Amino acid sequence: MIFSSKLVEDAVQEFSRLPGIGKKTALRLVLQLLKLHESEVDQFTGAISRMRHEVKFCKECHNVSDSEICGICVNRSRNHSQVCVVETIRDVIAIESTQQYNGLYHVLGGILSPLDGIGPEQLNIATLQNRVKTNEISEIIMALSPTIEGDTTVYFIARQLKDVPVTITTIARGISFGGELEYADEMTLARSIAKRLPIDNYVNVSGK
Ligand SMILES: [Zn+2]
Repeated sequence: MIFSSKLVEDAVQEFSRLPGIGKKTALRLVLQLLKLHESEVDQFTGAISRMRHEVKFCKECHNVSDSEICGICVNRSRNHSQVCVVETIRDVIAIESTQQYNGLYHVLGGILSPLDGIGPEQLNIATLQNRVKTNEISEIIMALSPTIEGDTTVYFIARQLKDVPVTITTIARGISFGGELEYADEMTLARSIAKRLPIDNYVNVSGK
C-alpha cells in the first residue's frame, strides 16, 4: 500500500496491529476517523488511552475493574458462597450476559499447557486456593474449555482443594458448544451452568 500521507500510514499501521484487522480494514477505519470531527476523534482516543492507563484487575477475582475490587465481588446481593472458575475475562462477560448466574468468579488467566510453558505458577491458582480457604465458599463451578488442557486444569485444581470442604462442579458438557465458552450462545451457556455436575462424576480426584 502506498500512502500520500505518512500520518495516515502511521495510523493504518497502528490499527493493523489489532487481531483480525488487515491493512485494508485498517485503512477503512482510518478514513472513517478522518470524516469525524476532531473532538470526536479526541473522545475516541481518550477512551482507549484512559482504559489502558487506569484499568485495574480485581484483587479478589482478577476480573477487569475500575477499582481495587470489582463490582461483582463487592455486590452483597450476589451469592458469595459460589465461585465460577473461568479462563479469561471474556468468559466472565459471556456468563454475565446469560443473567442466569449470581455467584462470584475467579479468572485463571488461561489453562495449564506445559507445551506452551504455562504451569500453575503462570495462572491465578494460588489465589483461588487462598480464597477458598479464607472465605465461606461452598461451591466451585469449573467452567473451562472442554479440551485436554481444560480437563487437566480442572483435575489439578480439584487435587489442590481436596482437603477443603467445598463442592466442586463442572458445567454440563456435550451440548452444542465447542472450543471456547465465549462462542456459546447465551441459552446454551445458561443451560450448561444450570445443569452442572459434581466433579466426582467426571474425574477421579481422590485417586481411588
Ligand atoms: Zn472481583
